[in-house]
Amino acid sequence: MKLLRRTPLGLALLTFAACDPPPTTVAVEAPAAAPFSASGGDALRYTLSFPEAGAHMIDVSAELPTGGEAQLTLFMAVWTPGSYLVREYSRHVEGVQATGPDGAPLTVTKTSKNRWVVNTQGLDAVQVRYRVYARELGVQTNFVDPEIAVLNGAPTFLSVVGRGDSPHTVKLNLPAAWASCETGLDAHADGQPCHFAAASYDELVDSPILLGNPTVLPFEVMGVPHRLVIAGDQGLWDMDRAVKDVQRVVEEQAGFWGGLPYDHYLFLTVADEGSGGLEHLDSTLLLTSRWRGADDEEWKDFLGLVSHELFHAWNVKRLRPVGLGPFDYEQEVYTESLWVAEGLTAYYDDLLLVRAGLITESDYLTRLSRAINASMTPPGRKVRSVALSSFDAWIRHYRADEHSTNSAVNYYSKGTAVGFVLDMEIRRATGGARSLDDMMRLLWARHHAGAGYTPADVRAAASEVAGEDLGPLFDQIVDGTAELPLERALDWAGLKLPEPEEEVDAWLGVNTNESGGRLTISTIVRDGPAWTQGLSVGDELLAIDGLRASADVLNRVMKTKEPGEALTVVLARRGVVKTVELTLAPRPFDAWTLSVDRGAVGPAVNHREAWLGLP
Ligand SMILES: [Zn+2]
Repeated sequence: MKLLRRTPLGLALLTFAACDPPPTTVAVEAPAAAPFSASGGDALRYTLSFPEAGAHMIDVSAELPTGGEAQLTLFMAVWTPGSYLVREYSRHVEGVQATGPDGAPLTVTKTSKNRWVVNTQGLDAVQVRYRVYARELGVQTNFVDPEIAVLNGAPTFLSVVGRGDSPHTVKLNLPAAWASCETGLDAHADGQPCHFAAASYDELVDSPILLGNPTVLPFEVMGVPHRLVIAGDQGLWDMDRAVKDVQRVVEEQAGFWGGLPYDHYLFLTVADEGSGGLEHLDSTLLLTSRWRGADDEEWKDFLGLVSHELFHAWNVKRLRPVGLGPFDYEQEVYTESLWVAEGLTAYYDDLLLVRAGLITESDYLTRLSRAINASMTPPGRKVRSVALSSFDAWIRHYRADEHSTNSAVNYYSKGTAVGFVLDMEIRRATGGARSLDDMMRLLWARHHAGAGYTPADVRAAASEVAGEDLGPLFDQIVDGTAELPLERALDWAGLKLPEPEEEVDAWLGVNTNESGGRLTISTIVRDGPAWTQGLSVGDELLAIDGLRASADVLNRVMKTKEPGEALTVVLARRGVVKTVELTLAPRPFDAWTLSVDRGAVGPAVNHREAWLGLP
């Protein structure tokens, strides 16, 4: 399916953003101990203020109905859905206090790292106040200073155990210098500025908030309103290009899936020095370098991020593995399918850019080569399957160390490579009539409204679309650690790898760090010469073949060597100097650089053009 150009480019450039409704008034500071209504229904009502934004503090006041309970158990999430690491957000919470409607204090007892119990004294509602320290600008964390606030739900809102399905409302009291509050949350029915309502705690947590003075660029696709919000760009971004290209990404994805799954969508972009993105139901939070807007090549990487997070509006936010929802916000949840949720999203993010005409075929092959190289090179690919690497995300992907490359595989890059292999296999099996696109749409049709898909559902959908049993391939490359059958996939698409070099370099199998005049081993490649012949991570290299060690000397000495020759290393380990003699090995193949096979015959050319959506 190709372009959707049903709506004109509604390019309106606002120098400040509007809340919905517009921010006609802004409060300056948090009210002190304002009385509150004890009869506010079952909604949990939060007010956020920023009287000490320069000290990175968020002041939170919450009016919480008790439901007649004698005790109210408050909790703060320990992680954010979409980012699989326990981050212990409660470490930034301070000064939790509770009062009744008359301002009289209630007893608050801390019962675990992230829970507090309020003695309600039989009141219908209590007011809880606390402060959150916010100086970590990330897609899962909070940041506040006098210019901007980037707020995420999980590290901000203490909610009540057992009340996840109750409405949660948020009132934002902005400092006078801030004009805008941007979030995917719906405006509160009372119409007050910067007052929002969430149907549940899930929805609250799934809706990041950006406050300050960003540029807001509204546009429509298929009649659905979108807003591209950009803060921090320092005038370096071409806003016309930004909105035009992002709109093009949305159109391509709407065409891919056959419609849009939301009734409004928000791209919250902080363009300063960060990187990363996180998907949400009706929005995404993007952190990027402001320089990406000033460089045509880097701009393509930003569009890749936009495409990735938008694709998640289908793949993972609505079409999700069982296990990723409903969430337990206080402990880890598990799935073997992050290679689908993240890896196949990564496969499609750049593929849809080339189909949309936003990057070239050559740009795309460079990006695909990068992912294939990252999945075919690390020794960890032989140790841990992409399914198990998904399951272990909490303790491996998000806690990488010097041994990670030897012990696991990245489910983003391996998932991309598996996606490519599956795509070509389905196309081959059906003579080009069907593809991985059809598998994604079949999974969507079957599972987006239900409890989620299992690994077996993905296998079944792939085999059904291919018209043959792909189970053995899944056994090998998803649940197993077999090498990817890349040449077969490349052959179908008329692509090739570089010819093997006649002379292979000598190889030691280490990476090093040089700092303060010291050269230290940072990584040792499993089964390489350094691994098998006595070098260790942390060794400080003092001399190499009798020359004082530096990164430059190591590099130059290695260039003089052939595989099979000796190398003498003098090193310091735990304060003791040693000499180690090694025999160098041939460098393993690590040039997974795809290019178009100009010698390929007609069908392969047609296959490639169909796959990439080339005219
Ligand atoms: Zn992702």
